[in-house]
Amino acid sequence: MYKKMYGQNFLIDNNIAHNIVKAANLTKDDNVLEIGPGKGILTKIILPLVDYLICIEIDTKLCKQLEYFFASCAIKNVKIVNYDFLKYCIPDNKKFKIIANLPYNIGTAIIQKILPISNWNTAIFMLQKETVLKLTANPDDKNYGYISIFTLYYSDCTILFNVSAKCFNPSPKSTITSSVIKLTNKFSKPPDPLFFYFIKHVFSTRRKTILNSICSFKGLQKQQVRKILDNLKVDSFLRPNQLSISDFLKLTEEIKKYIIPQI
Ligand code: SAM
Repeated sequence: MYKKMYGQNFLIDNNIAHNIVKAANLTKDDNVLEIGPGKGILTKIILPLVDYLICIEIDTKLCKQLEYFFASCAIKNVKIVNYDFLKYCIPDNKKFKIIANLPYNIGTAIIQKILPISNWNTAIFMLQKETVLKLTANPDDKNYGYISIFTLYYSDCTILFNVSAKCFNPSPKSTITSSVIKLTNKFSKPPDPLFFYFIKHVFSTRRKTILNSICSFKGLQKQQVRKILDNLKVDSFLRPNQLSISDFLKLTEEIKKYIIPQI
């Protein structure tokens, strides 16, 4: 019985599973976190290659099956945690790699939880191709938005390969392709709290010019915004999706000077 609400499309292609794990360049010194091990297709490949593996799985029945399997093989370097990853408190004492075929409905939420953490170094994720296009989009691309900037701020992201719907059971609609990506942590320091708040705002008004979009942010005056844009040599008629991450970082710094701190 598959639980659709948990995004349970299990990978059944062993070659793909091996290629996903291979992309993480695992060594015997590695600690690995796997999100949503499911029936364990990736888990069983990862285990002999690493020092320790911790798996977070929301489905109690799948956890029991995995625990039974590993106990019966006397495999000890694995811990199965029956928990919702979105509520899970990630230990911050050890460096780790992450491997996951993510439940598509919460893929972006999981990415947003992981990326700001400082003790992961490499992550291999399989997600729906549409989501991956948003994560990796550049300015001027229709997919470019908040999550592209968030991903780029914290990581270098490379698309590795696509996976067809036929490689899963149950198979998603044949039109749904998945993509595997590799993220490398840039260890960026947390940005000014205004930065992502501001980006969310401008992309919620993405059809407006950047001038008008900023004017509707925190009550800034048109004159002030024109001055900021002129100083930074940003054309006020550009749309938000034409600005780079460095433009947004500079804009945040300038805008901050005009915003009265709220008590
Ligand atoms: N890794 C397996 C594979 O490749 O076949 C399963 C992948 S399946 C796409 C996603 C898995 O994530 C399922 O096993 C599902 O139960 C689990 N899952 C869904 N939501 C979760 C959550 N919030 N926390 C932890 N696991 C979750």
